[in-house]
Amino acid sequence: MDLRPDPEKIGGDIYSLATEIYPICRSITGDGVRATLRHLAQHIKLDVHEVATGTPAFDWTVPREWNIRDAYIKDSAGNKIVDFAQSNLHVVSYSVPVRTRLSLSELKKHLHSLPLQPDLIPYRTSYYAENWGFCVPHRLLESLKDDTYEVVIDSTLKDGFLTYGEFLHRGDTDDEVLLSAHICHPSLANDNCSGLALLTYLAKAIAQQKTRYSYRFLFAPGSIGALTWLSQNEDKAARIKHGIIVSGVGDGGGPTYKKSRRGNAEIDMAMARVLKNFGQQASVIDFSPYGYDERQYCSPGFNLPIGLFQRSKWGTFPEYHTSADNLDFIKPKYLGESYEIISEALGVIENNLKYENTSPKGEPHLGKRGLYGSLGGDKDGAARIMTMLWVLNLSDREHSLLDIAERAGLTLADVSSAAALLEKHGLLKKA
Ligand code: ZN
Repeated sequence: MDLRPDPEKIGGDIYSLATEIYPICRSITGDGVRATLRHLAQHIKLDVHEVATGTPAFDWTVPREWNIRDAYIKDSAGNKIVDFAQSNLHVVSYSVPVRTRLSLSELKKHLHSLPLQPDLIPYRTSYYAENWGFCVPHRLLESLKDDTYEVVIDSTLKDGFLTYGEFLHRGDTDDEVLLSAHICHPSLANDNCSGLALLTYLAKAIAQQKTRYSYRFLFAPGSIGALTWLSQNEDKAARIKHGIIVSGVGDGGGPTYKKSRRGNAEIDMAMARVLKNFGQQASVIDFSPYGYDERQYCSPGFNLPIGLFQRSKWGTFPEYHTSADNLDFIKPKYLGESYEIISEALGVIENNLKYENTSPKGEPHLGKRGLYGSLGGDKDGAARIMTMLWVLNLSDREHSLLDIAERAGLTLADVSSAAALLEKHGLLKKA
């Protein structure tokens, strides 16, 4: 597999797609998800699944479908002071329909703002408790006068479907790599137009490649989408050998990789390796049972080797879940870098083979095969021999090339080329 992109070009392509889907009002169900999937489907052959309201998903149930056409608050003079058409963040996601007149004090019970970030609109949801509300800049809330306000939320909450998109690229084996991005947030650029757009372009590139693994891409609402997929595909879950949840990959922070619950999965090692080359600002953090869909995939009944990749860790940056997470907050450069990091880690996984030493009793005679440098004191030569000895010693069908690189403190590239050379000379065979 060779995904080496032109970082400038790929970053720009991902940014354009993120820009296209940014205005759409998404939630955990509804037409916003369908509209977003239609944009992604212009690049990849997506299977769109519709799962009916009421379908059980382990301890959960697929909720009613939510759609919204319009919403506003008008003062008594008829001025629209809050308008859903201006920003879909203004309405609490899953707000039930409302058409009423309220005093300021009654209205305030349904207004959400951020006193410490008074110019920003917060992002709020109420999926599992029937409620309604508006999100507004704190400055606007403070400026509201005693008045009678007309409140309209033209939404529907009815039996319908939960929608998700899936793309499968078949490799040489049925063993799968799962790559998943949540599709449930409305106009938030980093969280997660960035992840949806990045994975679409990655899927498009992988579709052109011959790969060892099969690659499954999921574009599903957070939590309930992963739970629904897992409950409908328990048989397929066992095929997943590696996975990454991708969210918030367009800001300049991090990069951050959160390990799978296992903590020592191949994907954990691969991501740690790639991020090590990225420099000091990169961090690898341990698993915790909160965050994104790794919570479901790493639940004890599945314990899949799936981690989370982000730039800044969620919740740690001031733009998080506010109207400041807009198209200025994400940059083509960072999207391109994130794409490269993920592709590099997948490259590591693809090439992380296990070998068997065909001459395991004693050291094989490297000299008679011309593999032992004839010049004494040749430092590079000595390092090459050391690499070959490590590969020969640990190639016992159990250790992968990545294990060998870790244990011997070598680069994967050096270990891979030593293995290729030894295989050419008949001293190794693929396990
Ligand atoms: Zn979020």
